[in-house]
Amino acid sequence: MDTQVKDSNIKIVGSPAGIEGPGFMATSIDKVVGLARKNSIWPLPFATSCCGIEFMATMAAHYDLGRFGAERLSFSPRQADLLMVMGTIAKKMAPILKQVYLQMAEPRWVLSMGACASSGGIFDTYSVLQGIDRIIPVDVYVPGCPPRPEQVIDGILKIQDLIQNESIRRRESPQYKAMLAEYGIE
Ligand code: SF4
Repeated sequence: MDTQVKDSNIKIVGSPAGIEGPGFMATSIDKVVGLARKNSIWPLPFATSCCGIEFMATMAAHYDLGRFGAERLSFSPRQADLLMVMGTIAKKMAPILKQVYLQMAEPRWVLSMGACASSGGIFDTYSVLQGIDRIIPVDVYVPGCPPRPEQVIDGILKIQDLIQNESIRRRESPQYKAMLAEYGIE
């Protein structure tokens, strides 16, 4: 039965018959785990050039990425679950980036920030990796050169959506393992 909140137009839906009373909530484990994970992201900033400066602005007081539960940056891959790659990645650096990814525990997500990380950007040369998705899987791409902090925040929100809605069994699925195998990751 609906009840009318006093002096407002807000309606509160009553509990279904039989499950009234305090201290009761029905949900699924996927939703609870997703909610906790999405609001406690520990990003690892892999910043190599100018996009990294824009990321610093995103972390600073004005944009304050901490509002999304992501203020705890991790410079150890073993204590991070979101790899944020920002900047030009030289081919010499590619094995290092892949090693950092491999050192992260599952579940892990990857955000590619800016044109350089996503596609090599303006550096269409022999020495620059033409997109980090050539060596590791990427979950969200943020376009721009550099992207504005609002775009980075939008990318984080997209990552949060993915985290919230991901099945806790996904990482064990044959599809996920097949995707990693395409990158030569066991
Ligand atoms: S995308 Fe633009 S701003 Fe970002 S690292 Fe490349 S050149 Fe610098």
